[in-house]
Amino acid sequence: MTATPALPASDPSRPTATVPGSKVLYGADYNPEQWDPSIWREDVALMRQAGVNTVSLGIWSWALLEPAPGQFCFDWFDEVLGLLVEAGIDVDLATPTAAPPSWFYRAHPEARLVEADGTYRNGGSRGICCPHSPAYAAAAARITDAVAAHVAGNPHVTMWHVHNEYGAPGGDCHCETSQAAFRDWLKHRYGCLDELNRAWGTAFWGQLYGDWSEVTTPRHSGTALNPTCELDFARFTSDSLLARFTAERDIIRKHFPRTPVTTNLMATNCPANDYWRWAQDMDVVSTDYYLEADSPESQIWLAMESDLTRSLAGNRPWILMEHAVSAVSWQPHNRAKMPGEERRNALAHIARGADGVLAFQWRQSRRGAEKFHSAMVPHAGTDTRVFREVCALGGELTGLDELRGTEVRARVALLWDWNSFWAQDLAWRPSVLMRHREQMRRVYEWLWDRGTTVDFVHPEADLGRYDVVLAPASYLISDAAAANVAAFVHRGGRFAALPFFAVVDDEECVHEGGAPGPLRDVLGLTVEEVRPIPEGCEVTLAPTPAAGVPQDAGAVTATVWSEHLRLAGARGVWNAVDGPTPGPAITVHDYGRGTAVYVSVVLQPRALATVLDPLLDLPIDKPATLDGGRPRNLEAVTRHATDGSGRAYTVLLNHDAVAHRLALVGNDLLTGRELHATEPTTLAPGDVAVVCHETTGDH
Ligand SMILES: [Zn+2]
Repeated sequence: MTATPALPASDPSRPTATVPGSKVLYGADYNPEQWDPSIWREDVALMRQAGVNTVSLGIWSWALLEPAPGQFCFDWFDEVLGLLVEAGIDVDLATPTAAPPSWFYRAHPEARLVEADGTYRNGGSRGICCPHSPAYAAAAARITDAVAAHVAGNPHVTMWHVHNEYGAPGGDCHCETSQAAFRDWLKHRYGCLDELNRAWGTAFWGQLYGDWSEVTTPRHSGTALNPTCELDFARFTSDSLLARFTAERDIIRKHFPRTPVTTNLMATNCPANDYWRWAQDMDVVSTDYYLEADSPESQIWLAMESDLTRSLAGNRPWILMEHAVSAVSWQPHNRAKMPGEERRNALAHIARGADGVLAFQWRQSRRGAEKFHSAMVPHAGTDTRVFREVCALGGELTGLDELRGTEVRARVALLWDWNSFWAQDLAWRPSVLMRHREQMRRVYEWLWDRGTTVDFVHPEADLGRYDVVLAPASYLISDAAAANVAAFVHRGGRFAALPFFAVVDDEECVHEGGAPGPLRDVLGLTVEEVRPIPEGCEVTLAPTPAAGVPQDAGAVTATVWSEHLRLAGARGVWNAVDGPTPGPAITVHDYGRGTAVYVSVVLQPRALATVLDPLLDLPIDKPATLDGGRPRNLEAVTRHATDGSGRAYTVLLNHDAVAHRLALVGNDLLTGRELHATEPTTLAPGDVAVVCHETTGDH
């Protein structure tokens, strides 16, 4: 079977594929239905004061817009819309299908989502019903059509926001209707039952199916389930939710043929959906990102979210659709942001290509489950630090409109594939410590530390624009992906794979002869045996002269994982000198005009820098505007104009608790100051500069 298609999200047939308007979008989810109408006028006046130009409206309004089946009430909605239009605030109008009304659950209990253990997911909270329920599909289509028809022709509806966070909570349903839909999906994928039995390896544990009716979703069972069934069910669920999105999108397009349609993804935080496929069906990519506030280096994970979202958008502009201006309410301990932190976070998203920054939500709820989630207007009102910072940020963003449409350019890419994510994290792997997310994060942190801006890329997508490609967590590699990587290296690319690499194909079948399967010739080795390292233990690696580090540089230590490698052309450049697999642990192989590095152990970010910087010949990354060294916690990302002018905008974010004196050249758009290298600029702790300058290169 063919693997997941991996087209970039740049289909020219899409109606606009751009962020609406000419300003950096600034605003929030607006939920006026939570408030007495007397508040609405104040809301709109405060929005103007804060510089808000766009709000997402109606996300949770289904029960108010359709109080009984087929009976619509738009009076309150029209009044709110009128107030927003009068104030010049654009509307990102939602389809309210993420929260069906209670009358729907009463009338259609069969539409409730069934969990793997057979329990029902009831109403009373939020989240999609069974994605295959005909009743839900009909009701969702009816309210979507009613809302779109009601506002048809309204030029202030500048964007459509379908549903909310598909996949959170997950959409994996095990009801009888979904079982039948899964069987149909499998028939389409495999054609016949013999082919399914082969692909799933059902001879194992005697799981052979003799009739399609025997095939089920991966329900709760005695012990580990068939992993290929689980992987296919993950693909099926992503496709099922995507079909719900496109159904609503297509209804909207009948009334709004030229208005961009989006839905808010959760790029790094939602394992439910294959967003490479989703992005192809979206006019504008948007994401929700909530800071890991207690993480000491939350700025790194924020950056990773932005880079993945920009990559999903095909390096076109994207929107931060939701974030928290201060604390959230659903983490175990919800730290409020420090003064200046929200500004720094918002501008960090802008740095990595966002053309809009919106929050959840405008006014902090007094009732309901999210009353302790921060908002632009907090419980304590406008005489607050939060609201003052909200207004100040709104003012600053108006000075950054010229950044819209500029692009971030990366020469290094990380392979990212939801299929590999799903497969690697299934049950019964050699170590529960070897998880996709942690592997990705270690590599991303190493590159963030050294100031290297990266793209994420599907393993079957064009790699031609990159100098270096890394595979931090490519446990699953299709034959097409392997051929793509091999061609990249053969043409002269520099490639590095991290452990547990290229183990299975897209049927979750171990490649013939074991890892790294179809990339054995590229890496010049075979993995003979995997030997996880017990928790709390370390393995010492010593460099050979070929490691490219001074021989007195000392050893690095590895954890979690080791592999016994049988070299066939590759050179061992770092050797394990103790632990369960003494011998070559990190290898280099020349293949065609390129180089392929294999790291068979788990290294922390600093050790990755020691080992991989010289082997991959990575340059020091420093923006052209900075004449001097870059402190580690000074994040600097450049957006380039695409009009051939050579104009560039470098956003510099000081994440340190100390000031930095920097030799900057250009014009700081936030302060309006001309900056000269001979008069060092002081960037205070937590402060940000957006420096406009001329450049001839990529940095
Ligand atoms: Zn179902």
